[in-house]
Amino acid sequence: MENIMTNRLDRGFYRYQEEFEAAALRVLRSGWYIMGKELEAFEEAYAAFTGAKYCVGVGNGLDALYLACRAIGISEGDEVIVQGNTFIASVMGITMAGGTPVFTEPDEYYMIDTERIEEAITEKTKAVMVVHLYGQTAKMREIQAICKKHGLKLIEDCAQSHGAHWDGQMTGTFGDIGCFSFYPSKNLGAFGDGGAIVTNSEAYKDRIRQLRNYGSSVRYHNKEVGVNSRLDEMQAALLSVRLKHMKELTEERKALAAAYDAGINNPLITKPAIREGAEHVYHQYVIRCEKREALIRHLKEQGIDTIIHYPIPPHLSEAYAYLGIPKGSLPITEHYADTVLSIPMYNGLTKEEQARVIAALNGYAG
Ligand SMILES: *Cc1c(COP(=O)(O)O)cnc(C)c1O
Repeated sequence: MENIMTNRLDRGFYRYQEEFEAAALRVLRSGWYIMGKELEAFEEAYAAFTGAKYCVGVGNGLDALYLACRAIGISEGDEVIVQGNTFIASVMGITMAGGTPVFTEPDEYYMIDTERIEEAITEKTKAVMVVHLYGQTAKMREIQAICKKHGLKLIEDCAQSHGAHWDGQMTGTFGDIGCFSFYPSKNLGAFGDGGAIVTNSEAYKDRIRQLRNYGSSVRYHNKEVGVNSRLDEMQAALLSVRLKHMKELTEERKALAAAYDAGINNPLITKPAIREGAEHVYHQYVIRCEKREALIRHLKEQGIDTIIHYPIPPHLSEAYAYLGIPKGSLPITEHYADTVLSIPMYNGLTKEEQARVIAALNGYAG
C-alpha cells in the first residue's frame, strides 16, 4: 500500500492543470517577467478577495512580515507582542526590523490568549502580532479593542489563514497590515515562493511598494534602503488561477476536517477545538497526544506520515538564544510543542486515504 504523505502538491496541480499551463505559457510568451500586468491583476483580485483596499505582492511570507514591521515603524528597542507557539518566521519578521519579540502564551485554540496581552504591555510595546495558527481565526474584535486602548499597531500573520473569517470579516483586514505567504503548501499556494500584504492604508501600501523594490517608487530614485522582494509574473499568474477556486478548495478542507472530527474517537488523542464564532480553514489538522513519539511510530508502521508544527518554539531555538528566555518560561507553549501532531490534510486527500488515517489513529492503544 502506498504511503499517505502529509501533503501532495502534485494533486493540487493536476486538478487545474489546463488552467495552470495556459497561464504559465501566457507569461513565458509575454516577454515580461517581473512587475507587470499579472502582478497588478493578482494584487487587485487578492485585495477584492480579502475585502482590503490594497494588496502588495512580495517575495515570500517572511518578507511580508518584515516589511509590515518596517512600515509601521518598528525599530531598535521596540517590543512586539506575539504568541510563543508560532512558526519562527513570525518572530524573524519582528527581529529583522530591529524589534524585540515579547512572547505570550496561547489559549486552548492555539491562538494568542487575549487575557494575557495586556499583562505583556510595557512602555516599549509598539505592536501586537496575531498569528491565525493552523487556519483558525483569533478573537479579533477583542484584540482590536486592546490595541486601540493602548495605542498599539496590529499586524496579522495570515500565512495559514487564507479566506478565514471572524465576525464576517476576513483575516488580514482587522489590523494595520495583514501578511500572507503563498509558499506551495499553504492554502493558497504558488509554484515557488510568494507573499503579499493587504492593508486599508494608502500610506502603508505606498511604503511597502517602495520597500520591496530597493526603496524606490520611481526607477533609480531610491528614497530609503529597501530590499528586493517582488512577486514575479509567473507566480502571480498561477496564483490568480488558484485564487478563482479558493472557495471550493476551502470547502474541501473543511469537509476533510469534519470527517476527521466525526471519525477520530480515541481518548488518547485530543482533536482541535474551535472557538465559537471562529472560522477554521484547516491549513493543518492538529491533534495532541501525550505519548506522541509512540503514536508517530504506530502511524508510520501503518504507512502514514505525520509532521510536527512546531517541535521547537522560537524562544528555545538557537537563533533566539540571545533573548535569554529559559526553558520553562512558557509552559503552555512548550507543552504544545511536545504534544502537537499534524496529520495528512491537503486538497486532494481521498476518502479512502482518510479512512486509513482514521482507522490507524483509532487503533492506537498507547
Ligand atoms: C509559512 C509561514 C510563514 C512564512 O512564509 P514563507 O513564505 O515561507 O516565508 C510565516 N508565518 C507562518 C505562521 C507561516 O506558516
